[in-house]
Amino acid sequence: MLSEVTVSALTVGRARAAAVSIEDRSGHEETELMRRDFVANVSHELRTPLTALMGFIETLRGPAKNDPVAHDRFLAIMEREAGRMNRLIGELLSLSRVEQEERRRPLERVELAALLRAAITTLSPAADAAGVSLEQFGTDQQVTVPGDSDQLVQVFHNLIENALKYGGGGGLVSVSLERIEHEPVLRGPAWAVTVADRGEGIEARHLPRLTERFYRVDSHRSREQGGTGLGLAIVKHIVNRHRGRMKIESKRGEGSRFIVLLPESAGRS
Ligand code: ADP
Repeated sequence: MLSEVTVSALTVGRARAAAVSIEDRSGHEETELMRRDFVANVSHELRTPLTALMGFIETLRGPAKNDPVAHDRFLAIMEREAGRMNRLIGELLSLSRVEQEERRRPLERVELAALLRAAITTLSPAADAAGVSLEQFGTDQQVTVPGDSDQLVQVFHNLIENALKYGGGGGLVSVSLERIEHEPVLRGPAWAVTVADRGEGIEARHLPRLTERFYRVDSHRSREQGGTGLGLAIVKHIVNRHRGRMKIESKRGEGSRFIVLLPESAGRS
């Protein structure tokens, strides 16, 4: 889909702060060029682990045939690469499901705070393991919005997981839920879910492209972390389906904030 992105970069002291707001204006239009690009990207992303797997199979059959130490090491790498292919396929399916459900399933009223708590609970062990304190604010409220529960949990899961993966170095990730009486772009009352980290932050030039499929700031690091480059593309699609909006704010050296704005009631755009 074509999306309109507005970027504003401001200078705060000596550090640069940047914010980007992403909204989809063009509905279902997708150019042929983007489709072709997507197919090329998918093929490349699948071929990389597959080539590694084939190389190791060959080595295990040949030079490393009688070397049990090499066997263990190579099998572990093969398992990791197979896991990466599996995650990639899972996320591709998830992306196509969101696109299909956009047309099929109507939104219902869902308990927003409960969905947020569910995502936090699932990721608490990962936060503990990474030594990150995962804090929450405002998630004890009773809030209902028009939504798709599975998809909203996925949005929160992806954003919190990213904050832990890429911003966890700051030791603190916070998730907050607050009401906005009048959200100008959504033209009415909205709920804002903010996932903030105190990590390294993201350079302003990357912000407008973060939600593109397969876009990564540091592809080596993303791969090391098991990333597929599809997480934020899925988030953007789901938020669009909810007629919401996502904002990304980041300051190098201070951390990032991903804000999802969801309309309080249906019928707003
Ligand atoms: P991935 O599967 O690579 O994590 P995503 O679409 O979820 O893909 O994210 C795209 C890229 O955005 C990541 O590769 C990472 O470089 C960057 N990113 C996402 N969240 C953060 C964050 N909280 N802090 C810093 N960089 C981030």
